[in-house]
Amino acid sequence: MNFDRIMIRYGEMALKGKNKRAFEQKLQRNLISKLKDFRVTRIEKTQGRMYVLLNGADPQEVMQACQQVFGIHSLSFAVKVEKDEEQLKEAVLLAFQDAENASTFKISSKRTDKTFPIPSQELNPLLGGHILRNTEGVTVDVRDPDVDIKVEVRHEGAYITAQVYPGAGGLPVGTTGKSLLMLSGGIDSPVSGYLTMKRGVAIDAIHFHSPPYTSDRAKQKVIELAQELSKFGTNIKIHVIPFTAIQQKIQREMPQGYSMTIMRRMMMRISERVAEQNNILSITTGESLGQVASQTMESMSAINEVTNYPVIRPLVAMDKLEIIDIARKIGTYDISIRPFEDCCTVFVPKAPKTKPNRQKANYYESNVDFTEDIDKALTESYVIDTAQYKHEELEEFDELF
Ligand code: ATP
Ligand code: MG
Repeated sequence: MNFDRIMIRYGEMALKGKNKRAFEQKLQRNLISKLKDFRVTRIEKTQGRMYVLLNGADPQEVMQACQQVFGIHSLSFAVKVEKDEEQLKEAVLLAFQDAENASTFKISSKRTDKTFPIPSQELNPLLGGHILRNTEGVTVDVRDPDVDIKVEVRHEGAYITAQVYPGAGGLPVGTTGKSLLMLSGGIDSPVSGYLTMKRGVAIDAIHFHSPPYTSDRAKQKVIELAQELSKFGTNIKIHVIPFTAIQQKIQREMPQGYSMTIMRRMMMRISERVAEQNNILSITTGESLGQVASQTMESMSAINEVTNYPVIRPLVAMDKLEIIDIARKIGTYDISIRPFEDCCTVFVPKAPKTKPNRQKANYYESNVDFTEDIDKALTESYVIDTAQYKHEELEEFDELF
């Protein structure tokens, strides 16, 4: 006997009525899309649970994939058998063997189908006895067992599960709307995107690209980051904004100390326009308070002035080390630390103002009209569908950047 499914638990979500249905449908759809490369044919839904039918696919690989899907509290390998004593015995033994290094166990039976003749109090010792007879050095411990084997006798059959694997938590991506993630090639913004997705938010990314100051490799990094993030939800599109002309104009015509603030304000204005055009209701950034000159409270206030869209900043209260930990865990860190410049580092002034204010930013901007430049950048912007994207062989000498 083998496990034939993975049981997915999301039951503790305090969702009711319509919300619950939408939640379940989204979770099911996200699972189907995540598992499309496996030969998993079906996802079964019963009250408050889902089962991924393995259909011969590698159980560990499918488990790992499911563990990346938001909206799942925990998972277990499971096997569904007939409501038959012999089959139940065989199944509990299999479940015990799945738990590595377990030497104590307990059986917790639940009988929702009262037509099944053996009550739970009798089923526990009956099935436990079978494990004891077929193993060595194993004992029952009802208080603190290494493994708690759950047997559920339902109308449609009996389900046996043991080891509990943690799920990714959060809410299914797509259940709480969409946000436009300002994605640089750095460490922070991908983590920020991940945390936003965890709360059920679907993501489009926007990237400001400044050729020839930033190379194709820098852009490629962003594409790879978006592809990595796509593992946790649906495929992420990147709106690429040619930003060179605006940056050069800022360099030329704005006071050095304010060039950083004004550049950020331009990014924010353009992001808002892209969000609006795509029916996206918020903007997400990787800002964290106090990290760099542009991330002081004064900076945030000056930058935020130009949009009234909600700006989601999941990292605002996190330490760099905590952010790096998450980046490592989600697989974006190694891509982020590749040494390719982004548009901000190239143009960063020697002494950016760490305490800019709104009045001055407005004053400097009022002397120069950026409207056409912004419109032009939007007209020349293009979308990269990261799912379709094939990485080209880039010239070797690009490495030297
Ligand atoms: P990150 O590690 O995400 O690059 P950072 O610590 O380098 O962040 P900043 O350079 O101040 O911080 O950027 C703050 C935020 O602005 C980024 O997290 C990102 O959301 C956005 N951002 C910066 N540069 C770009 C860019 N070229 N394209 C899109 N968004 C950007
Ligand atoms: Mg950066």
